[in-house]
Amino acid sequence: MRRSGRILVRGVVQGVGFRPFVFARALEYGIFGHVKNLGSEVEIYAKGDRFEDFLLSIRTGPPLARIDYLSVTPWEGPYPDDFLILPSSPGTMSGMIPPDIATCEECIADIDSRGGRYGSYWATSCVNCGPRYSIISTLPYDRERTVMQQFPMCNECGDEYAEPSCRRHHAQTIACERCGPHLILLDRNGNTVDCQDLIQETARLLDSGALIAIRGIGGFHIACIEESAGELKRRLGRSEQPFAIMVRNSDYVDQIACVSLEERLFLDSATRPIVVLEKRDRTAHTEISNLHTIGCMVPYTGLHHLLFSHLMHPLLVMTSANMPGYPMITDIDRAMASLSREVDFFLSHDRRIINRCDDSVVRDGFIIRLSRGMAPKRTRLPLGKSTILAVGPELNSNITIYKDDVATTSPHIGNVRNPGTFNYLKESIRTMGRLLGAETYDLIAHDAHPQFLSTRYARELADEGGGRLVPVQHHRAHIAAATPDPCIGITIDGVGYGDDGTIWGGEIFAGQIPDYERVGHLEVVPMPGGDLATTYPERMLYGILPEPDVEEILLSRGWNDLELDILKAQLHKNLNVAMTSSTGRVLDAVSALLGLCDEKTYDGEPAMKLESVAVGGRACEWDLSFFRNASTEVLSTRSLMKSALREYNSIRSGDHHHISDVAASFQYNLARGIAGLAVHAAQDCGIPLVVLSGGVAYNRMIRETIIDQVRKAGLELFINAEYPVGDGCISFGQCRYAAASVKSG
Ligand SMILES: [Zn+2]
Ligand SMILES: [Zn+2]
Repeated sequence: MRRSGRILVRGVVQGVGFRPFVFARALEYGIFGHVKNLGSEVEIYAKGDRFEDFLLSIRTGPPLARIDYLSVTPWEGPYPDDFLILPSSPGTMSGMIPPDIATCEECIADIDSRGGRYGSYWATSCVNCGPRYSIISTLPYDRERTVMQQFPMCNECGDEYAEPSCRRHHAQTIACERCGPHLILLDRNGNTVDCQDLIQETARLLDSGALIAIRGIGGFHIACIEESAGELKRRLGRSEQPFAIMVRNSDYVDQIACVSLEERLFLDSATRPIVVLEKRDRTAHTEISNLHTIGCMVPYTGLHHLLFSHLMHPLLVMTSANMPGYPMITDIDRAMASLSREVDFFLSHDRRIINRCDDSVVRDGFIIRLSRGMAPKRTRLPLGKSTILAVGPELNSNITIYKDDVATTSPHIGNVRNPGTFNYLKESIRTMGRLLGAETYDLIAHDAHPQFLSTRYARELADEGGGRLVPVQHHRAHIAAATPDPCIGITIDGVGYGDDGTIWGGEIFAGQIPDYERVGHLEVVPMPGGDLATTYPERMLYGILPEPDVEEILLSRGWNDLELDILKAQLHKNLNVAMTSSTGRVLDAVSALLGLCDEKTYDGEPAMKLESVAVGGRACEWDLSFFRNASTEVLSTRSLMKSALREYNSIRSGDHHHISDVAASFQYNLARGIAGLAVHAAQDCGIPLVVLSGGVAYNRMIRETIIDQVRKAGLELFINAEYPVGDGCISFGQCRYAAASVKSG
């Protein structure tokens, strides 16, 4: 039986109240010694008769901790005759700071207690809650290495900080009205709005219809009441894109949307993501979302809580103040410079945001955007000794760093096509590298596309610091992110650069990481005008079905003969025509056929509108047509599109079919066909496991049809819900793939 020793704990062990937690256990078990932050780890020297009980009690850590590793080595002493929290010292960097955490119930109660020290103070936090990743520059986690160093503690905060029995014992974010960060309310010209209570005034302005940029935990939102949503759309020039909303509480969300038990748990969890829910009445709240779904979240900071305590309206539109795909705006100067025409007021504060963090988004239990509250995300994963950087895809990007058996994925970065987001990518690599103590990399994984900015940056990093480059094809990264086991992989998404230089996106693979053979895909069809066919899906429709019927439809929709002739000639002479097996493009085309979307104004718009219309539609079984192309089996999407055209024509000729039935039938049969490809491949290869990934898998009907069909064939179907099924899983998959390819190579 041990009675003393040196204990080293690794993982997410700083910024989670680990030291005060250990301190409290030491008192409980009569332990002498000390605890301190050492690098990014926690070191404990402990001695006492109940050493083993003490050890057992700290193994799980406080609620927010994630322990990757705990070791005990003998240490005879000397020991002090009490238990101390010692100042931090530099040491190994292996751990990570936790994500930002929603304000806890106890802190909300403190904010609500009007006479108390924290009464109505918006930045109240404790050892269990508040900002973390967004405010820290490096580890060990101490006030001087966070933005809180600007705010020296007042005596009362200092007393609480030092008091072992207090919830704010060693809470680095402790602050009160007297010593902590302060709010400021500005009009669009930068003039200070003077009033007694800035939050109350902000609520009053919102209630009266104002559009206000509010600086939150990880960046600026634009907020307004539902009645002002139309005005917000007009000012942002986004007529179609749905907004997320913040709702007073999850009970009220119930009145707007259908909330399952699992969804309620997500809504109220410490991560507080935006949860995409099915509206109760799809004709309601159309100014916020013209889809059948609506993205809802509940307040997650003291500021939000106070805002809603004054607000008369039950919900606020709450949208990121940046352009979609661009980095969140974090500082007031940038916000003033870029939003003074869009908003009427700015509610800001003087707590700097070091690391920006957009809201996370979840739908049906699957992560759409991995960000605030969820990232940095850590997964324990033995991939060997190499340190690996994976720079992610181009759209919906994030990065992953692997070191010492743990893969850490950054918060959402965005679309790395513009300089702003590209800089943010580089900054994320530096920040995460610093926090993890990774300065150079043995392997640098990147997309197979030679021209992506991220690919070029990977090359630069390899030139500077060494490290072997590992290109990873987009869809193989999807499969690798889902499982390292032998499998049939279904990847259905928008675009990914394929082995043959065409655009893939409806692919079936067979094998085990890193040897995934492409064994099936959707029919390869032309995209006249390349990217133009993504923006204008009617071009895609004609690319798939260049038929007189479609020409007639286009002419009836406002195309003129000249435009049509140019399109025809383009296809005929193969001028600027890309080829694609993308699932997203096929969905776009049918959305265009049904007249649901003729111009894409936001990512995924045509397919999302198709899905919305399909809800409530009755799906009929259509004939599927498969053919072989060398070693791959191909599902004919032309044939599916022809069926859709036939049905659509029957509606136009006055038959009783409804658009929603055609939309539902198309999705259902496309999904059946994709499942068919996977089942055939599984039978050919004798592999019983099928995995599903790619952004199209967020479409509930498509996903559930595939699951159903694959399971009916006696196969297992797996979706990795720990990571996004969209491109937010790519950097993690690249990382796993790179490790495997080097091992096998
Ligand atoms: Zn708290
Ligand atoms: Zn104070």
